[in-house]
Amino acid sequence: MALQDSHGRTINYLRLSVTDRCNLRCGYCMPASGVGKLSHGDILSYEELYRIAETAVSLGIDKIRITGGEPLVRKDIVRFLHKLADIAGLRQLVLTTNGVLLEDMAVDLRSAGVQRLNISLDSLDPATFARISRSDDLPRVLGGIEAAKQCGFPIKLNMVVMRGVNDHEILDFVSMATSSEIAVRFIEYMPAIREHNWQSLVVTGAEILERLGRHVTLIPLEQAEMAGPSRNFRIPGAAGSLGVITPVSHHFCSECNRIRVTSSGVARGCLFAETEIDLKPSLQTGSNALLARALGAIVDIKPVRHRMNPEECHHQAFSMSSIGG
Ligand code: SAM
Ligand code: SF4
Repeated sequence: MALQDSHGRTINYLRLSVTDRCNLRCGYCMPASGVGKLSHGDILSYEELYRIAETAVSLGIDKIRITGGEPLVRKDIVRFLHKLADIAGLRQLVLTTNGVLLEDMAVDLRSAGVQRLNISLDSLDPATFARISRSDDLPRVLGGIEAAKQCGFPIKLNMVVMRGVNDHEILDFVSMATSSEIAVRFIEYMPAIREHNWQSLVVTGAEILERLGRHVTLIPLEQAEMAGPSRNFRIPGAAGSLGVITPVSHHFCSECNRIRVTSSGVARGCLFAETEIDLKPSLQTGSNALLARALGAIVDIKPVRHRMNPEECHHQAFSMSSIGG
C-alpha cells in the first residue's frame, strides 16, 4: 500500500520526534535558555509514539527517522527503538543525533536495530563548535563518531554551513570524507528562528559546490532508493562522499516524501506549514482507525511547496528542536 498526497507525491517517510529537550543549544535552532519547556504530560509516552509509528507503517510509511531535540537524552530510548525495529513493513529505522552521548550508546543502538545514523557536526574547531552549540562537547562528539564507526554504522555527517561562522571549515570536512568512509552533507542554513539578518548567513549549495570544485573533482552519484534530498558526489580516490542539501535555494518540495510528528503529538506535512493536526485526541480515543484518519489528513493537506528562498521567508519563527529538524 502507498500513501499519496493531493499533489501526486508518494509519502513513505515519517520523521518522529521523541523529545523537544536537548543537551546542546545550537544558536540556529533555539535560544540560549533552551526550549525544552513541554511538561512531562505533554510529551507522548512511548506507547503513544509506538502506536503512531505502527499506524503510519500500516498506511504505507516504510522509513522512520527518530529525531528531536536530542533523541538520545530521552530515558529508555534504546528499548523503544528495539520495539520500533520489529514493526513488520518498516524497511528503514534511522536516527539523527548531535553525537554527544553516542560514545556510550552506539553499540546498544546498533543492536536495537537502528540501521544508519546522521550525526550533526558543524565545526571541527573547539572554539567555533562552542560558538555554534554553546557547549564544549566537541571531543565527546568526535568520540561518538569513532564509536559509531567501530560498531559498523554507516555514518552521515551533517554540517550546517553559515557564512562567517564555519564556512571556512568546508575543506576540513572534505578531508574527513577523503580519509574515511563518511558521507559528509553540507546543509544550507535555514532561517527557522528568523534571526535578524539571516540572509547573510546563507551559503547556497551552488556556492558550496563552486568552492569545493576549486579544490577537488566532484563526480555526481546516482540517487539511491530511499535516499534523502541530497545531491551527492564522489571524489576520485576518496573513501567517503560529499553532498549538498539545499532547502533554501533549490527546494526539493516536488519530491518531498515526508511527514513529521512532534514529541507532543502534532503532525505536520512540512516544516514550514501553517496547518498542523493534533494527534492527541485520536490517540486518547484508543482507536487506531481515527489515528489513521488523522495521519491520512496530514498527508492530504501537505502543502505543495514552501515559500522560503535565500532572500525572504514568511513563516512564523519556530525552534527546529521542537518540531524535529
Ligand atoms: N539534536 C539532533 C541533531 O542535532 O542532530 C536532532 C535534532 S536537530 C533539530 C536535526 C537537524 O536539524 C540537525 O542536523 C541540525 O543541524 C538541523 N538544523 C537545526 N536548525 C537548523 C537550521 N536553522 N538550518 C539548517 N539545519 C538546521
Ligand atoms: Fe539540539 Fe540538534 Fe537543535 Fe543543536 S540542532 S540545539 S543539537 S536539537
